Amino acid sequence: DAMSVDSMTAGLDPEQSAAVAAPRGPVCVLAGAGTGKTRTITRRIAHLVSAGHVSAGQVLAVTFTARAAGEMRGRLRELGVGGEGPPVQARTFHAAALRQLKYFWPQVVGDTGWQLLDRKFALVSQSAHRAGVSTSTDSVRDLAGEIEWAKGSLVAPEDYPAVAARLRREVPMDAAKVASVYAGYEDLKSHGGDGMLLDFDDLLLHTAAALEEHSAVADEFRERYRCFVVDEYQDVTPLQQRVLDAWLGERDDLTVVGDANQTIYSFTGATPRYLLDFSRRFPDATVVRLERDYRSTPEVVSLANRVIGAARGRIAGTRLQLIGQRAAGPEPEFTEYDDEPAEADGVARAIKRLISKGIAPAEIAVLYRINAQSEVHEQALTEMQIPYQVRGGEGFFNRPEVRQGISALRSASGRDDLPEESRLGEGLPALVRAVLAPLGLTATEPSGAQAREKWASLGGLVQVTEELLVQDPELNLDTLLVELAARAEARHPPVVQGVTLASLHAAKGLEWDAVFLVGLADGTLPISHALGNDPSANNDAAIEEERRLLYVGVTRAREHLHLSWALARNEGGRKSRRRSRFLSGLIPEDSPASRIAAPPSKKSGPKCRLCGKPLLGTAATMLGRCESHPSDVDEALLDALKSWRLDKSRELKVPAYVVFSDTTLTAIAE
Ligand code: ATP
Ligand code: MG
Repeated sequence: DAMSVDSMTAGLDPEQSAAVAAPRGPVCVLAGAGTGKTRTITRRIAHLVSAGHVSAGQVLAVTFTARAAGEMRGRLRELGVGGEGPPVQARTFHAAALRQLKYFWPQVVGDTGWQLLDRKFALVSQSAHRAGVSTSTDSVRDLAGEIEWAKGSLVAPEDYPAVAARLRREVPMDAAKVASVYAGYEDLKSHGGDGMLLDFDDLLLHTAAALEEHSAVADEFRERYRCFVVDEYQDVTPLQQRVLDAWLGERDDLTVVGDANQTIYSFTGATPRYLLDFSRRFPDATVVRLERDYRSTPEVVSLANRVIGAARGRIAGTRLQLIGQRAAGPEPEFTEYDDEPAEADGVARAIKRLISKGIAPAEIAVLYRINAQSEVHEQALTEMQIPYQVRGGEGFFNRPEVRQGISALRSASGRDDLPEESRLGEGLPALVRAVLAPLGLTATEPSGAQAREKWASLGGLVQVTEELLVQDPELNLDTLLVELAARAEARHPPVVQGVTLASLHAAKGLEWDAVFLVGLADGTLPISHALGNDPSANNDAAIEEERRLLYVGVTRAREHLHLSWALARNEGGRKSRRRSRFLSGLIPEDSPASRIAAPPSKKSGPKCRLCGKPLLGTAATMLGRCESHPSDVDEALLDALKSWRLDKSRELKVPAYVVFSDTTLTAIAE
């Protein structure tokens, strides 16, 4: 009715309002960053519910991160959607699938139990070992990535070599070998211990299969959910689309929003083709294009337009120019540094200045291409006593006690003897504490360095639980496990309080007052493997995806935007890097980038055990040597660990900064 349309479209522009007020049925919003896509779908849900087209509980909204899902639930609560009844389900594909699978599993599979596989590297490594393929950290990571791509693209192991050849994929090794590691990995999962192990993609596969093959399940599901909304639709994988199709059945109550220029997850199989083909699939669809950018100053918007305007081989239908709506702000700044420590130092100082001007640390982000770049920035921020939060937090999840803790929580989630109320809304932290107590989470801090460290790490799990509860008051043990697994995979990020350090991939959909895009050097953005050594591979596509990453980065800034790069990686290192090719044409000719050579800082971080050079965030770092001395360290460490295993009474002496790689841990376990 007119009144509810009015209230739900208040503060929206005419195009946004058209998408909100469109009748039931397919709706597609194709628009650039910051144009209000996420805001529009939230209002559309509110409108559909308040106009009585669906009840809140019948809406399933899919977002890209758990944080985005929490924000959407929060906004819907503020809009008063749903009242006392069941609320709108806003979840990631994985969380939604997990929930459904738990419910339908006994009906479609029966008594065989299953567990969520929270880290797949160990199993991939085992499979690689069996297949006679290198189990180095790099190799296992490449293989795991390739398996993720294949599963997301619905490519079975036996089809992998042919598909890889057809797509001219740059494969990490002989495609037949990849296929055999992939097949071996699937095999290990289905025969792992008691019951099956399911990875994230299996959650989706099993959910789709349950609906496709069991009409009773499909009927029950489709009775329950009647209206679907998908944010960030440009990055949906064929596997996720299959789940969505299974949810929909013959119906068409689907609203999607996306920006093909922000497709940045191709490595998982994600593709913008479903977004771009939407109106072909649903000829009656209401299609809306938005051009006004409400997020960023005209200066930032203009830079974003230039970044994406330079894209080659643009996808048809994406020629959208953003038009800034906000008042003018400062020009974006470009800064060149001598080396990475100097860059980190310069960025930390600039952040300090912004904070002293009254910008909250939580409104500032440092964004980089790869997680390893965080280390040098963490150090610089620490030295300047600026609070920060790294999205991902991989180091934490690598700790053995944290892994044990998560696996204890997983077994607890399958137990019926836990009181139901302690599983839902304030009871959860207490439940987590109780489960972790036998592993060393005593009520008071224990004595002894090792016990204390373990205690603190286990306490960290309780803290994470509390943080997640703030975002999602409905969090329960099952969804907590999904969140923990997601964090362990360093994909979905934690809550932010201080300055956010995040990869560009993790920054999607988010916004900050001030954004620092760091490491804009060729080889980092675009990343070296996008430049490729294989001339027959499709490198243009990889480079264009890197350009879209820069576009995503630029469009995260509301007001202050700083772009920087370093000419060398190490302090005083050889100046061997060039600024990113994407910056040419963006820096005004008459005002060249300011060049700041920060004074050499007295870094107190870890030094190479052989030559004393500071260590950077590479795998070698973790083992205590620098780039020039990376060899044979794993073996030496392994020997030390093996002898330690035989004689556990001895204290193991390794430097505090050593982090065990998955390969090492697997080797120790065997
Ligand atoms: P992205 O592509 O990065 O996900 P988006 O298109 O989803 O961006 P939103 O996050 O929904 O954009 O909106 C960007 C910002 O603009 C938000 O702060 C939002 O509140 C604000 N905004 C959106 N629409 C309007 C409007 N009509 N008037 C004022 N502010 C708006
Ligand atoms: Mg959005």
